[in-house]
Amino acid sequence: MPKRSLLPDPVEAYVFDLITRETPIQRRLRQATASLPNANMQIGPDQAAFFDLLIRATGARRALEIGTFTGYSALAVASALPPDGLLVCCDISDEWTSIGRPFWRQAGVESKIDLRLGPALDTLRALLADGAASSFDFAFIDADKSSYPAYYELCLSLVRPGGLIALDNMLRHGAVTDPSDTEPETETIRSLNLFLRDDPRVDSCLLTLGDGVALVRRRAPAPA
Ligand code: SAM
Ligand code: CA
Repeated sequence: MPKRSLLPDPVEAYVFDLITRETPIQRRLRQATASLPNANMQIGPDQAAFFDLLIRATGARRALEIGTFTGYSALAVASALPPDGLLVCCDISDEWTSIGRPFWRQAGVESKIDLRLGPALDTLRALLADGAASSFDFAFIDADKSSYPAYYELCLSLVRPGGLIALDNMLRHGAVTDPSDTEPETETIRSLNLFLRDDPRVDSCLLTLGDGVALVRRRAPAPA
């Protein structure tokens, strides 16, 4: 399996293959993705289990995903939402998201998923224009890194006060600590980590789960 955490290989295998709860449909979707050249874009099963627990623990009903790929993280989130829950998925690839759809159907969650193909910035702006501000409970940002700051700002408008935003790959497989790595995407993630640490609009922490997951909670506005 392609590596998708910062753990040493034997520890990753222990967590992924022995300890983590994964449904047979989730496992089959992971297997169906494994032969793709970009298979390591998929979150690990431990991260999927964490999102499952987070959605259930917070009672989330409306969720957003920016970056769906073959639908593994979407399957986990949608499965944890209540029967009348909604997950709006944003992606530009019909080819990749089409791989996930039969698995969503088998799991009985296809009707909860509203997949919007097109640049996520357009989809998020359209949601805001349609009056969806402050209406989501959870958002997962896992698409092109250069747009993370813009996705974050839009998600902060779309989640309700008390709602959560998770941002993936915030450690860039350790590249954030390598001063010789001056790639624009690495610089963007470095400065976003510092920005989140100091952003007074949110509570935030950086989880060393997967490739680093920043978890942010929108604070209620201070009373006037
Ligand atoms: N969350 C997925 C999972 O765990 O299986 C992985 C998502 S993958 C890291 C990133 C996805 O972002 C790709 O499927 C890609 O097509 C999509 N993407 C890239 N640029 C995008 C954009 N501008 N708007 C929407 N989606 C985009
Ligand atoms: Ca990712």
